[in-house]
Amino acid sequence: MQLECIECGSKFKINERFYTCPKCGGLLEVEFEPSELKRKLNRKRLRAEPPSVWKYHTFMPILDESKIVSLGEGGTPLYRCDRLAREVGVQELYVKFEGGNPTGSFKDRGMTVGVTKALELGARTVACASTGNTSASLAAYAAKAGLGCVVLLPRGKVALGKLAQTLVYGARTIAIKGNFDQALALVRKICEERKDIYLLNSLNPFRLQGQKSIGFEIADQLGWKVPDRVVVPMGNCANIWAIYKGFIEFDAVGLTRGIPVMMGIQAEGAKPIVDAIKGGLDKFKPVKKPETIATAIRIGNPVNGPKAIRAIRRSKGTAEAVSDKEIIKAQKLMARLEGIGVEPASASTIAGLKKLVRGGAIKRDECVVCVATGHILKDPEEAIRVSEHPREVPAKYR
Ligand SMILES: *Cc1c(COP(=O)(O)O)cnc(C)c1O
Ligand SMILES: [Zn+2]
Repeated sequence: MQLECIECGSKFKINERFYTCPKCGGLLEVEFEPSELKRKLNRKRLRAEPPSVWKYHTFMPILDESKIVSLGEGGTPLYRCDRLAREVGVQELYVKFEGGNPTGSFKDRGMTVGVTKALELGARTVACASTGNTSASLAAYAAKAGLGCVVLLPRGKVALGKLAQTLVYGARTIAIKGNFDQALALVRKICEERKDIYLLNSLNPFRLQGQKSIGFEIADQLGWKVPDRVVVPMGNCANIWAIYKGFIEFDAVGLTRGIPVMMGIQAEGAKPIVDAIKGGLDKFKPVKKPETIATAIRIGNPVNGPKAIRAIRRSKGTAEAVSDKEIIKAQKLMARLEGIGVEPASASTIAGLKKLVRGGAIKRDECVVCVATGHILKDPEEAIRVSEHPREVPAKYR
């Protein structure tokens, strides 16, 4: 395995501490040799063990497995949703419930690998900018590893549950008077100057390797089959690429056959990738003031945009934008038809699916998996705001 620049193809050793290509500034990716993977793979154990991130350790870029920092991430439910399927108009619909992770979002899958890598590289402190879930997850894994943790958050813009987690796990928390994109630019500068601080934003190519396991688990839980489509919310755009990459690697070693069509969903107030895909462009134009109720995807300048565009194009997928109103409606549908509680960013997938089925882009006889990225308790204020208030009555029977 080695690091490879997705733009210029330069190759680097796996234990280099680059976040982007030192030659051209492009995004990096960990590439495995399929023959090497095939040789190491224990197919019998793979079929017998229940899903979890480290079940797929052969596909993880870790050299010293004694250093693994784990809170039991992955192995989340893949719910078959027949009532919701009827509502949106597809035959077979599954929701991959990432709220089931240790800190309530899929970010834990990346952090278990990223923080393990930080230990391998000898870092003492880890850092990130975050809309909330990345910081909650990093803070927890840093605590488990005994590492210092610094997080930069957009002031006043972080959902309550995520902020509570970040603070209680003990991260040094800095509120930036600006948005997420500005916070990320700042933390990148800090980590360039301070070599003792290791950056664990989604630019970090190792973190994304852990997130591939969403793709692995979907195939595993469907009985080693690949769905027709996978629908993913896009913020900084790492996850859609990581999931796509998971399917590519399973196909390359012959565990499954084929790649699902990747569908990326953004909010109307923050949809640079949707515009690029629909406009047939290779480069996207950042959105200056991103706005949406779905704070996890309130991102105007997604650093992994080039990877998302590749994942969508190569899998012959598309991207769609949804309004906050559609997101709220979908959030309630998921809760009330299936008992699945998700934060708004996750509900954007069901809202997007509904739109794409109505528009004819997705056929009714397809098998679709929506990735519900985060738990409803992440943003309790939003959940209460959009719901009917409880009726108040005196405390007597008649
Ligand atoms: C991080 C996050 C996203 C966006 O994922 P990207 O990899 O940044 O595109 C979506 N939903 C939730 C709940 C998240 O925490
Ligand atoms: Zn390069």
